[in-house]
Amino acid sequence: MPRPTGLSLTAKVLIGMGLGVVAGLAINLTGPHAEGGFVQAWLVDGLFGVVGRIFVNALTMLVVPLVFFSLVCGVCGIGHLRVLGRVGLKSLLLYLMTTGIAVSIAIAAATGSGIGRGMEIESDASFVASAAPSFIDVLVNLVPRNPIDAMARGEMLQVICFALLVGVSIVMVGRKAAKLVAAFEIGNEIMMKMVMIVMAVAPYAVFALLARAISQLGFDLLASLLGYVLVVAGTLLLHLFVVLPIVLRLFTGLPVRAFLAKMRNVQLFAFSTSSSNATIPVTMRTVTQRLGVDNSVASFTVPFGATVNMDGTAIMQGVATIFIAAVYGVELDLVGYLTVIAMAVLASIGAAGVPGVGLILLSMVFLQVGLPVEGIGLIIGVDRILDMMRTSVNVTGDAVVSVIVARSERRFDESIYRDPEAGLVADAIAIDEAAEAELAKVVESTRTAQR
Ligand code: ASP
Repeated sequence: MPRPTGLSLTAKVLIGMGLGVVAGLAINLTGPHAEGGFVQAWLVDGLFGVVGRIFVNALTMLVVPLVFFSLVCGVCGIGHLRVLGRVGLKSLLLYLMTTGIAVSIAIAAATGSGIGRGMEIESDASFVASAAPSFIDVLVNLVPRNPIDAMARGEMLQVICFALLVGVSIVMVGRKAAKLVAAFEIGNEIMMKMVMIVMAVAPYAVFALLARAISQLGFDLLASLLGYVLVVAGTLLLHLFVVLPIVLRLFTGLPVRAFLAKMRNVQLFAFSTSSSNATIPVTMRTVTQRLGVDNSVASFTVPFGATVNMDGTAIMQGVATIFIAAVYGVELDLVGYLTVIAMAVLASIGAAGVPGVGLILLSMVFLQVGLPVEGIGLIIGVDRILDMMRTSVNVTGDAVVSVIVARSERRFDESIYRDPEAGLVADAIAIDEAAEAELAKVVESTRTAQR
C-alpha cells in the first residue's frame, strides 16, 4: 500500500473536531441558535445536521454486513471450534471484569469527592424510564426468530448468533463449501474497503457533528452540575489512560503507547458519533489492520464488546447513582453499592451501544436501589457531552480485550502492533486502474459466454 502523504487521517479528524468546537461555541455564545432562527434552521439543523446524519448512517450501514461477513470468515478461519468457545468465554469474563472495575472506581471517586451533598437543584427536565430488557429477555433474544429481521433492526447479539451458526455449519460441510468461504472472504474485503471510503470523509462529518453538539450545549446547566461532570470526566480519563493500559500491560506485556496512539482514531469516531455500534467498522479495521488482532478473534470480540462491554457507561452510572442519592438524601449501604456494581455490569449486556442508552440503563440501577427515576431528569441536560466521552472509553475497552484474547490464543501479529505505520488509511481513495481494466474484461467475457 502506498504510504499516505500529507496529514494523517487522525490529524485531519482532530482539525475537523477543533474547528467544529470553535464553530459550535461561536453559534452557542452569540446566541443565534434560538429555536426557529435562521442559523438554527439552516446551519445547525440544516447543513450540520444533514452532513452528520449522513455520516452516522453510512457507518451504521456498514455494521451488519461487515459483522456478518467477517464473523463467518472468522469462524471458518478459527480452525477448531473449541477455540471459538474459549474466545467467547475469555472475552465475556474480561468484559465483565473491566466493567466491574470501572463502576467500582466510579463509586469510590463519587463518594470520595462528596458530590451532590447538600445540593439543591431545581430542574424542569423530566425523565420517563423506558422499559429496559430483563435478563431473561436478553437470554431468550440471543436467538433470532428471523435473521433478516434481526439484521434489519441491527440487533447485534442476534446477528452474532446467526453468523456463528452459519460459520459453524460451513465448517461442518467442509471442503464442498470452500467456494462459499472464498466468497465471504471477498465480501469481507469489500466491506473493509467501504469502511475506508467512509473514514476518508470523516474530518468533514466530524466537524458538522461537533459544531452541532456544541452549539446546543447548555453551559449554564453545565456550570451548575460542574462537580458531577468533572467527577465523571475525571474517572473516564483515569480508566482510559491508567486502568485499561494497566490491564493491557498486565495481560500481554505489550507496550501501551503504541496501543493508545493507534486507538486515537477510533476514540475520535466514538466521541463524535456517541455510538459504539456505529463505530464498529472503525474499531474492527483498527484492531485487525493496525493492532494485529486476527480477524478470527476481532470479528467476534468487537461487535460482542460494542453491545456487552460499556466501561464508560458504567462509570457514568456509578457516579450518577451516588450523586443523585446524595441530592435526595438517600444513604446507600454496602448492599446498595454492590447492587449498583452488579446492575451496572449486568444492565450493559443486553443494551446496544447507541447514543443515550446509558440513561435507560441508569433507570434500571435506580429501580434496583430504590432511587427515584425522575432523578435522572437532573442530569439529562449534560448527558450529551458525557455520552461522547464515555463512548470513547467503551470502544477502547473493546479493543483492549480483543488484543488480550487474541494474544492469549496466539492469533496476534506483534509486528503489526509494533509498526506505527501498519494499516494507515490512505488519504487518497485510489482505484488501481490495471485491476479495474482486468475486472472489466472478466465481466465482458462472462457476458460473451452467456450470449
Ligand atoms: N453511547 C454509548 C455507546 O454507544 C452508550 C451510552 O452510554 O449511552 O457506547
